[in-house]
Amino acid sequence: MSDRSTRLVQALSDGGEGVELMLVTSLVNVRYLTGFTGSNGAALVGPERRLFLTDFRYDEQSAAEVDPSFERRIVSTSIIEELGPLLPDGELRLGFEDHDLTVHQHATLRERLAGTIELVAAGTPVEALRAVKDEEEIARIRAACELADAALREILAQGIVGRTEAEVALALEDAMRRRGASAPSFESIVAAGPHGALPHATPRDVTIDPGQLVVIDWGAVLDGYCSDCTRTVASGEVGEDARIAYDLVLDAQLAGLEQMRPGVGGRDADGAARALIDAAGHSEHFGHGLGHGVGLEVHEKPSLSKRSEDVLEAGNVVSCEPGVYLPGELGVRIEDLCVVTATGREVLTHVPKELLVVD
Ligand code: ZN
Ligand code: ZN
Repeated sequence: MSDRSTRLVQALSDGGEGVELMLVTSLVNVRYLTGFTGSNGAALVGPERRLFLTDFRYDEQSAAEVDPSFERRIVSTSIIEELGPLLPDGELRLGFEDHDLTVHQHATLRERLAGTIELVAAGTPVEALRAVKDEEEIARIRAACELADAALREILAQGIVGRTEAEVALALEDAMRRRGASAPSFESIVAAGPHGALPHATPRDVTIDPGQLVVIDWGAVLDGYCSDCTRTVASGEVGEDARIAYDLVLDAQLAGLEQMRPGVGGRDADGAARALIDAAGHSEHFGHGLGHGVGLEVHEKPSLSKRSEDVLEAGNVVSCEPGVYLPGELGVRIEDLCVVTATGREVLTHVPKELLVVD
């Protein structure tokens, strides 16, 4: 884990902003660098500095969790308010995470820190590191995917017709927790028939009727790492339109997966899947990006979309999830999670992708 801080220091020195010391306040980034899982903590990282800060509630927990390369310091009230005396004297360019530090916290720092300290908006250097997973992280994500796969299989074996979307979602989350998940990665989506045309539908107290397409998007958090997968299943035989839409999305999903290898741009991977959906006349029915990175958070770098400037590299864990949403009719989305390898990809989610008919 101490290697992560070393890589952050390297990234800062390569970054050209002249950041000499980085204040990391985003809790997920603090966790990534130090191992700390509590709700109040920050890290200061520089070439000769590894300092972890929290308050007295987390003294014992942080002693057990925080990587020994970090010196630990317990503050009495607010980390931001008590930072000043912990910084070196003299001129210093102190980087901060501008997507995380609040305007109020920034003002507090500005007010309390010595005039020789310059606050530098340092962007998202830790997120950039997190985009490339090590073997241990990949193993955790793989395990989260296996757990979530098993939970869905259990739920589908019980049947879905006559149950409400909300009941199925709750049963799925319960099945994940029983298998050891600490939480769902996000609020599960179970959306039947026309409701499936809402890409981020909330499960309703509405019964799933026979003969509908049902979009199920779910994930588990295990050992801090997320899984993310979507299957669209049929609650009994569905019509020709549904079959055509399903086959199109599956073709696009396979075309997208084919692009998951080092050196491919996020925009190009998106384009490969999107081209098939466009050619079928459904451009306006696929309004989101092809995929996103997954790790400690369910949405992280890199992104695969029309506007992405990311380029895939080995160790990225990304989703591939095209969809076609026909308002008032139906929705189809098929999503796998895969890890980009030196030569291609390994798919981590294994629920079959031929249209499953579940009564
Ligand atoms: Zn998903
Ligand atoms: Zn996703």
